[in-house]
Amino acid sequence: MGFCIFNNVAIATRHAQAELGLDRVAIVDFDVHHGNGTEALFREDPSVLFVSLHQWPFWPGTGGPGTSDEHTLNVPLAAGSGDAVYVRAFAETVEPAVSAFEPELVLVSAGFDAHVDDPLGEMALSVDGFRELARRSAALGPRTAAVLEGGYNLDLLPSLVEAALAGFSDS
Ligand SMILES: [Zn+2]
Repeated sequence: MGFCIFNNVAIATRHAQAELGLDRVAIVDFDVHHGNGTEALFREDPSVLFVSLHQWPFWPGTGGPGTSDEHTLNVPLAAGSGDAVYVRAFAETVEPAVSAFEPELVLVSAGFDAHVDDPLGEMALSVDGFRELARRSAALGPRTAAVLEGGYNLDLLPSLVEAALAGFSDS
């Protein structure tokens, strides 16, 4: 849905499993929108843990409270959530779940539309917040790769991606 033609992170997951010999893949999606397509593709697949932190209620309306199961973790966050809320959600919810899953690979759906100045999202993450989320994401498993997702403030986007790349290499 949305602006996506192919689900890049789902293709990367299946490539890792089919071609690189990895079994257990965790996907961490911090795009401001719920990763409903990724959730739908892997909902019945216990080899993939899907984690989405997203604004809720918000488009597309899925991923609300009570929609998690053993290998789907939805973390709905209220509009206006900033760095502290995201870091707490990582520490209290995301990190224990991913650690228990013991992924061989962490794939990040790196969306930047939860930045405070994004024209679509209504969240309040800062540049430093993205660096920290990237650092924490990369620390979740032995190897990490990321795909670019949303982010609609094109003046800011390069600095947000740069901060995330710094965070990924910092873990
Ligand atoms: Zn988005």
